[in-house]
Amino acid sequence: MNTQEVPGRAEFLSLLDAQFSIPVSDIQGIIREFHSEMQKGLAGNPGSLKMLPSFSARPKGTEKGSFLALDLGGTNLRVLAVELDGKGGSNVVAVSRFTIGKKAMQGTGNQLFDFIADSILEFFKDNAIDQNRKYDLSFTFSFPVEQTDIASGRLIEWTKDFTAKGVVGEDVVCLLNNALKRKRISCVNVAALVNDTVGTLASKCYSNPSCDLGVILGTGTNACYLEKLSNITKMKRKNANGEMIVNMEWGNFNKFVRTAYDADLDKASPNPGVQHMEKMVSGMYLGEITRMIICDLIRRGMLFSMIDHAFIFSKTGSFETQHMSIIASDGSSDLKNVEILLSEMGVESIKPDDKKNLKRICKLVSDRSATIVAAAISAVLTWMDPELKCRHIVGVDGSLFEKYPGYADEVNNVLFSLFEKKSSPIFLEPAKDGSGKGAAIIAAVATSTEISASLIDL
Ligand code: ADP
Ligand code: MG
Repeated sequence: MNTQEVPGRAEFLSLLDAQFSIPVSDIQGIIREFHSEMQKGLAGNPGSLKMLPSFSARPKGTEKGSFLALDLGGTNLRVLAVELDGKGGSNVVAVSRFTIGKKAMQGTGNQLFDFIADSILEFFKDNAIDQNRKYDLSFTFSFPVEQTDIASGRLIEWTKDFTAKGVVGEDVVCLLNNALKRKRISCVNVAALVNDTVGTLASKCYSNPSCDLGVILGTGTNACYLEKLSNITKMKRKNANGEMIVNMEWGNFNKFVRTAYDADLDKASPNPGVQHMEKMVSGMYLGEITRMIICDLIRRGMLFSMIDHAFIFSKTGSFETQHMSIIASDGSSDLKNVEILLSEMGVESIKPDDKKNLKRICKLVSDRSATIVAAAISAVLTWMDPELKCRHIVGVDGSLFEKYPGYADEVNNVLFSLFEKKSSPIFLEPAKDGSGKGAAIIAAVATSTEISASLIDL
């Protein structure tokens, strides 16, 4: 071992620690910045939070019926049939999952919507769905949309890896209806356009009215919450009683201090300059940030230094968030699974320190993500309830939250460090299939006369 190199490496790793940690003492300031951005967004002033009205209210738990739901995430498309029992119970009775290919993501709008319509046809076939009756379908679309009512809205901009041409500025329900026509699907009525966060909140709320915040931690990250209509000052209305779910588009919050890695990742992304928080938090990016640190360490001769392994990690996307999960889940003293993973990637002569340091880097990156999410959750909860006097259930959907070992614990730890005993009424709960089930619930809310009446003068 080169004795000169060890202190250099230790020093560099400590520097990384400092760059990636967000002290609890800084979070109060971040919460104030969050509140100020929320205020701007609700007033319709320029800022990093779009605060988009969803035209959906809180479900009551009594909504009933069978619905189809389309859930277009950042990585997967799911088609579901959901049954609501009217007593807070919802059941996915059929589901088909499709991986969204590059052609659909980055080709033309018609290619994307034809892919969606073809997937619906496949779902019908796979699940022997009778196409001679009519179905109300809810379209969960996980991108920023300016809604004009419950079943129409224009795409503001693409996020994540999507760039499909001819969609920005268009009504995505119209584009879906056109594709359904092209594919001769006549049994489907698109009844609601729903953001995935809104679906997640609705699905938790349906069984538990204490849920007032929905969070997505999957390919991307976002959140929505229940806001008083009187606070949504940009929606000029005659009657401002009641509440509406607001889609924050919090992935675009841009007040966290970024590292040089974050700046480089942003520059190389299809959407530079936007979604700064998402790029520090969500599944699409954590593996990539880690890859960039790995490459930096290799370049400095501080990792895998026996031979030059730079080429293994040189390609964008060659190290994924799923790999970090495997590393984080290895609790063995010799980090055997880390070694197996690295060997499978082609790394040779792995030293014990390499495994330990890789695990440490993954933890830095995932802990920072969890801390940012905890700060953002704290901001929204204290906006609604400054003294945290009420019970708050936070429904969370997405593979990062569901599958990353220790992620939820870390968010809870930060919440506890921030609020101590006052954090006890905050409960983070997984909302599995939330965005799909919730979409069906929103379709049911949308077709109920009570809601139409309460939103009639918007
Ligand atoms: P979508 O964003 O399409 O709705 P998901 O919620 O399933 O879909 O999120 C998919 C993303 O979650 C993947 O792109 C990946 O970044 C991340 N992911 C998938 N599996 C894991 C895992 N085991 N550990 C951590 N992150 C994961
Ligand atoms: Mg999703």
